[in-house]
Amino acid sequence: MKQMFIGGRWVAARDGATLPVASPADGEIFDHIARGAAHEVDLAVAAARASLDGAWGRMTATERGRILVRIGEAVLAHEEALAQLEARDTGKPITTARNDIKVLARYFEFYGSAADKVHGQTIPFLGGHQVSLLREPLGVTAHIIPWNYPAQMLGRTVAPALAMGNGTVLKPAEDTSLSALRFAEIATAAGLPEGALNVVTGLGEEAGAALAAHPGIDFISFTGSNEVGTLVQQAAARNAVKCVLELGGKSPQIVFDDVDAERAVPIIVRAIVQNAGQTCTAGSRLLVQRGIYDSFVGRVAEAFAKVRVGTPAMDFDCGPVMNPAQRARVQRYIDEARAAGIPVLAEGTVAADAPRTGYYVRPTLFGPVPRDAALAREEVFGPVLAAMPFDDEADGIGLANGTDYGLLAAVWTENAGRLQRVAKAVKAGQVFMNCYGAGGGVELPFGGTRRSGHGREKGLLALEEVSSTKTLVHYHG
Ligand code: NAP
Ligand code: MG
Repeated sequence: MKQMFIGGRWVAARDGATLPVASPADGEIFDHIARGAAHEVDLAVAAARASLDGAWGRMTATERGRILVRIGEAVLAHEEALAQLEARDTGKPITTARNDIKVLARYFEFYGSAADKVHGQTIPFLGGHQVSLLREPLGVTAHIIPWNYPAQMLGRTVAPALAMGNGTVLKPAEDTSLSALRFAEIATAAGLPEGALNVVTGLGEEAGAALAAHPGIDFISFTGSNEVGTLVQQAAARNAVKCVLELGGKSPQIVFDDVDAERAVPIIVRAIVQNAGQTCTAGSRLLVQRGIYDSFVGRVAEAFAKVRVGTPAMDFDCGPVMNPAQRARVQRYIDEARAAGIPVLAEGTVAADAPRTGYYVRPTLFGPVPRDAALAREEVFGPVLAAMPFDDEADGIGLANGTDYGLLAAVWTENAGRLQRVAKAVKAGQVFMNCYGAGGGVELPFGGTRRSGHGREKGLLALEEVSSTKTLVHYHG
């Protein structure tokens, strides 16, 4: 049983309530977490506030940065244990989990190094005046993250907030809270003062909702579904709190007839099966120019059919999905597409010795998918790829922009002019040209347009989201 981490101490839920933790690989319950709720959120927000009035709030940016860099080093020193824990909790292949822990460390290295490089400005103004702009922390920042990349998401959202000197409260997903709890312990041992990071575990509709609605917070970063993102934004609005929302996606791979297929095919397959398709930036639509549609999609199908699904230790391309509800959701999309007569072009294989009690689904490539089908427009959040032909540049752009989302896109062509034109015309927060970057790149500003959300995380831009500008106007005569 793991307690919550609040104000530098382990805390149980006031009523002693707990939640079971199951491994997606076999469905077995292997631990419990505390079921925190409004009371524990109150404690955590108060602890974060107190940290701003205490040692954490008094530190210089250089001191904060050093602690963050040390946290990154400490994460790497615990890499294997953290990766094993993450793999067990999420079901993902162990190599993927190891990479996630490296990325967590990298976030702390990157933002730790940046902490004392956030500088103010001066502005020429009226005679006899001196105007300076200060960048200040927002105060108490709340962070609600999903279950697909628990360690990476923690780093992505908490590291910049700490670098700017905020006091943070993290609500991990109920399915995957273990790495955050272990991380809090590691960070504290590396020198993070008490209260700077508080972790409240529990249900989304209890602990998460209480955090989003808390009058003591100054900012919310939310990553997850559009439904909950809307609730979080409503709660933030009631307290006039700024929020950054990272929601879903239906990201297109736009493939023109002069594509370097040799290079593109393996990247396109990996972009949808990585993390069992449970990646907001999964490349879930394969849009191919009509002249090469059959041959190119045929090559993708050949590679897709080799995808293997198994336990974390088998370390194949793909693990199970997160929970029974997610498996049912993904399977429903597959079953409904089949029932509608959409052709199946390839399926991956679930290892024969993967436990029957695990949450496995068969990766599936469909095509051609009608443009108005659910598979063409809705986020499956599973290893399901929808192939569709398009005619020319204009049609490809129209099809790429034909969903409510706008998170990522990739353009594949050897024509440099076309690359630029299409990249500029596509509605997305990131566009990859002859490559694909689901997840990676802590240096690269990331976030959505349209229904994929707003605000930016990653890169130096994230530091602007978690700070505010104070304008000082001094009349000196
Ligand atoms: P979710 O249900 O929206 O959960 C996300 C987080 O919100 C979890 O911590 C959850 O806690 C919490 N939560 C649930 N109900 C809440 C409420 N009423 N108030 C406040 N917090 C609440 O999403 P999910 O099922 O974990 O993830 C799948 C979806 O997230 C997909 O649509 C995917 O595209 C999107 N996603 C987007 C990104 C991105 O970067 N853009 C990344 C990952 C996932 P519990 O888990 O304890 O319920
Ligand atoms: Mg939930």
